[in-house]
Amino acid sequence: MAMDDNQPSEAMKFELLKVAAKPEAAARLGRLLLPGRQPVSTPNFFAMTSRGSVPHVTPDNVSKHLNIGGSYMALEDFIERSQAYAKREPPIYQTPSSSTPSSGRPPLHSFTATPPTTLTILAPRRIPAVPSPMGNTNSSISVYTSTGFQPLSTSEYRSAIQTLQPDIAIPMADLTNAQINPTSKRALRMAERTDEWIKEWFLLTKPTSSTATFAPVLPIAYSMQWEYLERLSEDYTPSSPGHPSPRGNNAVAGLAVYDPDIIPDLVNDYSNLSLLPRLSLSAPSTPHQVLRQISLGVDLFVLPFTNTVSDSGVALAFTFPPPSDTQGILPLGVDMSDQKYQTDLGPLMDGCTCYACSRHHRAYVHHLLSAREMLGWTLLQIHNHAVLTSFFEGIRQSLQNGEEEFEKGVDRFSMVYDSEFPVGSGERPRARGYHFKSAGGDEKRNKPAWSKFGNNDDSEGVSVSSSQPVTDTPPPVPDPMADGVDLEHQGLGKVVR
Ligand SMILES: [Zn+2]
Repeated sequence: MAMDDNQPSEAMKFELLKVAAKPEAAARLGRLLLPGRQPVSTPNFFAMTSRGSVPHVTPDNVSKHLNIGGSYMALEDFIERSQAYAKREPPIYQTPSSSTPSSGRPPLHSFTATPPTTLTILAPRRIPAVPSPMGNTNSSISVYTSTGFQPLSTSEYRSAIQTLQPDIAIPMADLTNAQINPTSKRALRMAERTDEWIKEWFLLTKPTSSTATFAPVLPIAYSMQWEYLERLSEDYTPSSPGHPSPRGNNAVAGLAVYDPDIIPDLVNDYSNLSLLPRLSLSAPSTPHQVLRQISLGVDLFVLPFTNTVSDSGVALAFTFPPPSDTQGILPLGVDMSDQKYQTDLGPLMDGCTCYACSRHHRAYVHHLLSAREMLGWTLLQIHNHAVLTSFFEGIRQSLQNGEEEFEKGVDRFSMVYDSEFPVGSGERPRARGYHFKSAGGDEKRNKPAWSKFGNNDDSEGVSVSSSQPVTDTPPPVPDPMADGVDLEHQGLGKVVR
């Protein structure tokens, strides 16, 4: 069917299936519907990706074994510029443009090989984002790529969204990403800049865009950002979302909430914003925090702890509602590197029906982790995502049965389970892009794979990478600007006279 350029494209829909009768913020049941993607029942979670893929799991296995509705991606993962070729366009922007939204495979899906039924969420930065030593400016933020920090301008980000056509985009927000709260002066500027950027965003977004916008809600006090929120509500949000609007996708379709504690204020003051799906970008660190945020009315999550727990060799082991016949505090996960699982033929978690648990046993995963075989982390990722999928299924079921049953489950969950994940004792996989670097002065995460022969003293720290031969003097590096005479002096290759 040919698309009329002037017709607003079929916009994302969010149906609220069950909301508590009370007026304050509360847990709710809903369904997110995007043309061409599988419906996402909420509360639910999206997978956290690194450079567009779920760590350790190939796209075909994501389709087969991970029941995830969406993938969160960060543009900073894709746009590094090498110093030698600063003008080179990042490959992601060169994805063939023949893939149209109607084919179900927009460029971002094609480039990252994301299954067609899975929806994509694109944001400027990862969660949690590495704080930048350079501040943001009035028209750009500082992002962390694999070649270091670089500015990302509002216009470059917008054009990336236009080119890549994610299903959901999160506009740029002026965030500090620091542990400490910003001063009130800084907080006000955060709100002002984000406000300016959102005006620019909607000014330049077409109703025919195939991308839904989840507007950022800043991690600052409500009193600091109410003007910005009022603009979102009055100017850019349809009064009754879900009905066809002349704005099409040039409207707020959801909220990306960086601190869910602000939700009660939103519920009080903006009835139309309350009908939108809320995605928490606050990176809750335990299932207890996830449950608390659901009680506040969060619908969707991105959970970076899933990947870090798998990397540490831990298999998640919790359910919702929690088991009723328990004694003592149960751990949230099992450290599969522990020697005691060497001969354990049980599944990673009793009762789990995931691929890893139905085909393999603890002893095998323990062996893989000891041998540092990648399959170990792959099986853990499949299992840990499955545990989360059933955790959210259990939450939705209990909400279906009534608010009271859910609240009872939450109380019991906090009594039955430990408050933190066990610390895995195994060696982590080699650090990659998604294991972001922390502040300067930290020890190197990866041990050198090999060093100078006969040098037993590791502390010498000979930095050797696999691409460099081991010699005392570095090999001459050819200068790309060198001419024939220079090369002769540098002695690159043999000059035949
Ligand atoms: Zn399992």
